[in-house]
Amino acid sequence: MPEQHYDLVVIGAGSGGLAAAQRAAEYGARVAVAEYGPLGGTCVNVGCVPKKVMWYAAETAHALEAAAGFGFEVTAGAHDWAGLKARRDAYIHRLNGIYAGNLEKRGVTLLRGRATLTGRDTVTVGDEEVRAGRVIIATGGRPAVPDIEGAELGITSDDFFTLESRPQRVLIAGSGYVAVELGGVFDSLGSEVTIATRRDGVLRDFDPLLRELLMDQMRRDGIAIETHAVPVAASQGEDGIALELADGRRLGGFDLLLWAIGREPNTDGLGLEEAGVRTDEDGFIPVDEWQDTNVEGIHAIGDVTGRIALTPVAIAAGRRLADRLYGGMPDSKLDYDCVPTVIFSHPPIGTVGVTEPEAHARYGDEVAVYESRFTPMLYAMGERKVPAAVKLVTAGPEERIVGCHVIGAGADEMLQGFAVAVRMGATKRDFDDTVAIHPTAAEELVTLRSKRQ
Ligand SMILES: Cc1cc2nc3c(=O)[nH]c(=O)nc-3n(C[C@H](O)[C@H](O)[C@H](O)COP(=O)(O)OP(=O)(O)OC[C@H]3O[C@@H](n4cnc5c(N)ncnc54)[C@H](O)[C@@H]3O)c2cc1C
Repeated sequence: MPEQHYDLVVIGAGSGGLAAAQRAAEYGARVAVAEYGPLGGTCVNVGCVPKKVMWYAAETAHALEAAAGFGFEVTAGAHDWAGLKARRDAYIHRLNGIYAGNLEKRGVTLLRGRATLTGRDTVTVGDEEVRAGRVIIATGGRPAVPDIEGAELGITSDDFFTLESRPQRVLIAGSGYVAVELGGVFDSLGSEVTIATRRDGVLRDFDPLLRELLMDQMRRDGIAIETHAVPVAASQGEDGIALELADGRRLGGFDLLLWAIGREPNTDGLGLEEAGVRTDEDGFIPVDEWQDTNVEGIHAIGDVTGRIALTPVAIAAGRRLADRLYGGMPDSKLDYDCVPTVIFSHPPIGTVGVTEPEAHARYGDEVAVYESRFTPMLYAMGERKVPAAVKLVTAGPEERIVGCHVIGAGADEMLQGFAVAVRMGATKRDFDDTVAIHPTAAEELVTLRSKRQ
């Protein structure tokens, strides 16, 4: 017989799980959260946070290059990767401690170990079985590795954060944001980088303008982008690691191969069958708009659901679910539309809403597009000129903005406010009526004139 009974047991103390557990506890629910790894999950330990530290390091390298243009006599010396890693690890360790303190403060019990569902309302963690009024599955995902010969020669994004030194010749297989962001870090800090993409380039689901400008700049910065590159085998040769491609090409001579080909859900060994919880063909747990699985009382949030895999999405889904279940807000649920996102590339990308091709598919002829390409003043004095561009996609005669896309210095911090406006249903006229802030790159978004239908 289970000894402990909780109103809610959350499996996984990552972004979504911690948010749901803490919110439920704030409403007075008796909550436990199970976790076998460090607190904070992917984002804090092997995702957003250490990645952003590395992006700052990479941007600093570019700032040092630009310094001469502003009159500084600066020579970028050697970069101490190991020293940066030590400081980054210490920062994350501090965050892990803060998360533990937050759970304690709210009276959430932390169950240490791998959790398995043993029934609809029982969960085993290590040797302990607990009874749960409800269960939230927030187990996230892990990097995928291809099922090909020699795949073990490659590392994943998790391993990237354990590197004690910077490899010189780097091959990244993948085309998503992880490939772009980690490739950008290596390149900016001095590695020779090749990115091998299965189809026609990186960030396939993004607006064509963003893709074009980013790939141009990556190439100008020295990153080789090999397109239509489908890996069939990896091997270790005398000149380093090599990747054989389906069309007979061979990419060779690398010190490091990094797989960035997507992520898989952490659902195996979770006892889903015992509890009767359905998964899809890729192992993700489908949920309805309320984050409910097919089993009454078992919910799922975050990356494990296969919905938009971003930390703030997992957090928002978790908080709204707790509001609904324990906070007396029966209508609380997450609206997955209009979720803004940033790619920490060089230059960064910020985007919200639909792309131009998606808008044409959805709204037909009623689409108008406004765009501008420019070189930010940041680069006016130096040798390295990094282009920028903005695009607004509007729909209907009232020209409601359905897509807002920005690439260029500052795009990462620019987009959040514009995302509010887009979500509120702003029109092109609203943007035009907003007085610009000058001189900034952001003002381009409220001064767009030329229109394409
Ligand atoms: C390299 C990289 C960079 C990223 N950058 C960004 C970014 O800049 N911005 C952004 O918004 N998102 C980013 N993400 C995505 C973000 O990290 C995820 O969307 C987010 O962490 C998902 O949260 P989650 O709660 O669903 O899962 P996770 O954070 O993955 O947490 C799941 C937790 O469950 C635990 N767990 C799994 N199975 C069990 C079990 N059986 N028992 C107990 N515990 C278990 C795991 O150990 C883990 O701690 C990045 C991801 C990666 C890989």
